[in-house]
Amino acid sequence: MIPAATLRTWLDHLQATHRLDVVERPVDLRFELAAIAKRLDGRAVLFTAVTGHTTPVVSGIVSTRAMIAEACGVAEADLLATFTAAVAAPLPVRRVEHAEATCQQHVLAGAAVDLRATLPMPVHHEHDAGDYVTAGLFIVRDPVTRKQNVSIHRLQVSGKNRFGALILPRHTHHLQVAAERRGAPLECAIVVGIDPVTLLASQASTPFGVDELEIAGALRGEPLPVVRCTTVDVDVPAHAEFVIEGKILPGVREPEGPFGEFPKYYGPRSDKEVVEVSAITHRTNPIFHTIVPAAMEHLLLGGIPREASLLQTVRQAVPTVRDVRMSVGAFCRYHAVVQIDKRVKGQGKNAILAAFANSFDVKHVYVVDPDVDISDPADVEWAFATRFQADRDLIVVNAAQGSKLDPSTEDGLGTKVGFDCTIPLDADRFRYLRIRIPGEDAIDPAAVAVPSAGRTFAGAEDRG
Ligand code: MN
Repeated sequence: MIPAATLRTWLDHLQATHRLDVVERPVDLRFELAAIAKRLDGRAVLFTAVTGHTTPVVSGIVSTRAMIAEACGVAEADLLATFTAAVAAPLPVRRVEHAEATCQQHVLAGAAVDLRATLPMPVHHEHDAGDYVTAGLFIVRDPVTRKQNVSIHRLQVSGKNRFGALILPRHTHHLQVAAERRGAPLECAIVVGIDPVTLLASQASTPFGVDELEIAGALRGEPLPVVRCTTVDVDVPAHAEFVIEGKILPGVREPEGPFGEFPKYYGPRSDKEVVEVSAITHRTNPIFHTIVPAAMEHLLLGGIPREASLLQTVRQAVPTVRDVRMSVGAFCRYHAVVQIDKRVKGQGKNAILAAFANSFDVKHVYVVDPDVDISDPADVEWAFATRFQADRDLIVVNAAQGSKLDPSTEDGLGTKVGFDCTIPLDADRFRYLRIRIPGEDAIDPAAVAVPSAGRTFAGAEDRG
């Protein structure tokens, strides 16, 4: 069994390996919790005394690439291949009964629903419109195929039983539009406090009709146990901490936002879909999870599935592609670094074109050779500085679809640029040979040197 079978087994594992911090002093949900979590980015942090609540809040449960690989039970170098294999071969879920489902140990329905009384939801950023659920798996069912879809949408609390939701035009939106045309609500469940593997699976780039919970099963190596919700026809992970059951109301739009988003800017306020909540179910002594926007947890959970998809797309065009990274400086969304073993003239450019085609979010592409460490931004910049000539190695595509959250675009219309930083195949190889000191790599600094103490260097003449 992988260490991350549930949120709790994962927290036990993080604690045992000294990567879980705890904040025991009272912490305010308005800014203070997010501020502390952000300063501790890279570690998991549990807040046990959130003002006004007895429920603890956790954040940063997978805030490094190594933690995500570990949660999936694989080496970091195998993470993208493992994720790709899971997307290609989903494993159907396993249904359990209500009595077995820890997420339904307590049921609050109808008039007992009071989001703010039950859920410790933080206000994250200075100009956010309010308190948000940011780590909720949003699950809906296609009434035609009965297949479910899972995604994460930001949810602003707007009443005792009401959320405003940002639902971008992808799979959930498609089902919501179809329901709305029939004048019908779309039932949904919002799952908070889930294992990191299922969180990662929810971000897979898949065709419409693939159930992301089945990808979670494939990643876990065993079917994900699910239970039917108590008030809606949706199946949810049985071991979750909280499940919020409800429906997206047809023909209703209410203001949502602004909200600090992954590009480190605010997503705007506008009229958005509304979720009306019919029940909240939870474990005994539940733990609430919040993802601080633009923190490493947020960037990596989105970035790694994007990398897996990007690697597949580039491989169609350039079979000798080695690896890809969505770089952290561009929040794992806008900058793709593609490493290829170039065999044929022009393949660097083909790799750029393939990367543009993979996702409209990809804005700038850097293609590098196998000797460049693509997880090191300084090494990628070195290749850009010394192997790239703009008159020969640059691709510019004007007025393409980009990200609407990129403030430099015209409502998402923007320019794509590709940088082929590979060495020309016919170049003199010595001109491109990286300098190297023999033996340097084998030196362990702590084993050969100690801090100097007790020596005197300056004499009277130095002191004037
Ligand atoms: Mn989907």
